[in-house]
Amino acid sequence: MKIQSIKALVLPTRPTVNFRIALPAQTNSSMLLVRVETDEGIVGFGEASPFALVTGCVEADVLNFLDAMNTRLAGVEALALERVHGLMDEYTLGNAPGKAAIDIALHDIWGKYAGMPLYRLLGGGSNTLVSDMTIGIDEPRVMAAEARRYVDEGFAILKIKVGLDPASDLEAVRLIREEVGPDIDLRIDANQGWTTKQTLATLRAMERYGVHEVEQPLKADDLDGLRFVRERASQDVMLDETVHTPHDAWSALSAGTADIINIKLMKSGGLYPACRINAVAQAAGVPCMVGCMNESRVGIAAGAALVAALDNIRYADLDSHRLFEELPGVTGGFEQTGGAIRLTEEPGLGVEVALEF
Ligand code: MG
Repeated sequence: MKIQSIKALVLPTRPTVNFRIALPAQTNSSMLLVRVETDEGIVGFGEASPFALVTGCVEADVLNFLDAMNTRLAGVEALALERVHGLMDEYTLGNAPGKAAIDIALHDIWGKYAGMPLYRLLGGGSNTLVSDMTIGIDEPRVMAAEARRYVDEGFAILKIKVGLDPASDLEAVRLIREEVGPDIDLRIDANQGWTTKQTLATLRAMERYGVHEVEQPLKADDLDGLRFVRERASQDVMLDETVHTPHDAWSALSAGTADIINIKLMKSGGLYPACRINAVAQAAGVPCMVGCMNESRVGIAAGAALVAALDNIRYADLDSHRLFEELPGVTGGFEQTGGAIRLTEEPGLGVEVALEF
């Protein structure tokens, strides 16, 4: 079964909430779906979410890459994932979102070919998982009201964006804990926004509010600082922007900088390399989370299958599809009640895409 064509479709997005993080706002807010067709008529769908400040590429880069791959991968065996990734990696070092889109579509094709849902293809035995819901940076009282809404919707884990101003961050966490009570799990993500001293002081002050994990407090490349923080903080240090590849995971873990790694398909270049990052972390005794950029239901279904499949992936931050209006014509993949996600038993991603490419 050979790859016949790779087509992309850019769709406008409409945010449902005002979502701010410590990194500068991204003006590119489109979603980019990919359709891969094989010579046996099986079609797979994937998605790219280029978040330039993390992945280093913008939408036009992804479209150029996909156009080049439409030629380069034509006639290549669709299930030869090692070979496909080799051909993509030989073409360019970066463009992980473009690689992820093709990788996800090929996994969708693999599942449809095998007649199995993706989570089972990846080795999983259960189709359920629990995701957190993320609260963007805003006035602390506004963030607490949002926390209330999410808890009322059934979420039991909240991820709080921080990193612009430690005093305001602390106040937001205090008000959120007061609002949601003691039974809701809270984690924070500073998106590289704090200094080492701000991190230690703020984490110390947050101990009384039961924050269990801190994600990316310092700059992505500050391994010395991250190790310094990890050795002193009572909370688990989770790395996101520091780790894109299996090699990044090895470097970060051998430097003693992480208690948890946040894998994102848009950083790793898809499920195939994501499994390798998880294997490196697992070998080091470190669990993983699967997070997301601004994916729709297509990319989220792929990330959710990875979480459901692999025991070492103990956390899920798969919520971007709820920060935007759902794309018309894109359905299936999973059902969600609060944070509880139940994956479909349909083959592959199980996502229906009724759109013209
Ligand atoms: Mg993060």
